[in-house]
Amino acid sequence: MDDDWASGLALRPSWMELDLDALAQNYRTLRRRLGPEIKIIAALKANGYGHGAARVAGCLAGLDVDMLATGSFEDAAAIRAAGIELPILMFGGALPEAMATLLAHDLTPTVYDRAGAEAVEAAASGPAPVYVKVDAGLGRLGVALPDAFEFIRYLTGLSKLVVEGVYTHLSFYDLDGKEWSRQRLLAFDALLEDLEEAGIEVPVTQALASSTLLAGLESRANAVCPGHLLYGIPSVAPEVAEIAPYAPVVGAIRSRLIHAGPLKAGMRDTGRNAIARVGVIPFGLYDGCRPLLAEAPARVLIDGRPAPILGVSLEHTTLDLTDFEDAAVGDEVVVLGRSGGEEITLADLAAWQGTRQHHVLMAFDRRLPCRYIGGSVGSAVTGGVA
Ligand SMILES: *Cc1c(COP(=O)(O)O)cnc(C)c1O
Repeated sequence: MDDDWASGLALRPSWMELDLDALAQNYRTLRRRLGPEIKIIAALKANGYGHGAARVAGCLAGLDVDMLATGSFEDAAAIRAAGIELPILMFGGALPEAMATLLAHDLTPTVYDRAGAEAVEAAASGPAPVYVKVDAGLGRLGVALPDAFEFIRYLTGLSKLVVEGVYTHLSFYDLDGKEWSRQRLLAFDALLEDLEEAGIEVPVTQALASSTLLAGLESRANAVCPGHLLYGIPSVAPEVAEIAPYAPVVGAIRSRLIHAGPLKAGMRDTGRNAIARVGVIPFGLYDGCRPLLAEAPARVLIDGRPAPILGVSLEHTTLDLTDFEDAAVGDEVVVLGRSGGEEITLADLAAWQGTRQHHVLMAFDRRLPCRYIGGSVGSAVTGGVA
């Protein structure tokens, strides 16, 4: 840790540790599974799912990733500012009038309607590669599957716009969703066949993301676009598939006690009379900790032992230190991660907050400082705090 990092942490000692070796390993595991022929477009939207888009991109750029994808211009600009020249697919998120800006920054726009296509055509000075998004059933962004063939044929008639890719996105959580996705993938495959038969060549076709990949579903497309899976975050229910062998990239969240002492005499009765000692860490709603369910057995780890959480307020979490006679200001507190033989996982935090794992991460993003570990392979970025 450099000095700036260490002194910054004395000011507010709470941070998240991200393991770039786990990210690289997850990528390699997927690559082994897919073989060398399938292209991998890594999804880095939402600031790399809260892991820091530029750092994630820097790590993946050192591997053989084919393309990066994100939703926001801010993320794309951060990746370019880190010196990464891989092609970047923009999932969509901008108005047609922003197409000129995307092209000027060497980003690949997504189009799904005529307004977007015309804007690319008007803004481009030469050939402008785009990806077409098809809505295969989620009912969100994309040209509706039944209209997709005609739309793509229209695009091939434009003079500057070049259809470099056609993709769809399907995500699901449970077994019903898996069956539905299997059907929708077949329908998308049929579109790809129609395009082939009509002699419309599309270099990149993509349909599988984390849920469909984890569930072992198949597609005739030649690329995949995983997000969750790369970060080791499950996107499906355990009965559909386990996230293993993909490991969490969030290795730990740590803090330090800023107070430890006996419950002061005359304090308001908390209704928990057995509490003799309390501690406080500077980790609260402001840092991205979401409110805990009242019935959750929420705890932290100190010296390999669990300490119950009494409450989370705007900037602090209060702990029951009754069993920690010796705990003192400055002692490390593990909010997530291992300590001795005990472990608190992202799944535990999600359960205690009554939510899913990526919601937990989204709340920490740009609030909790990040410390990166590992990632010597191709890490194009240096420094402590994201
Ligand atoms: C987010 C996103 C992905 C990645 O999804 P995961 O479920 O996280 O793997 C793929 N494609 C599109 C269009 C997306 O928006």
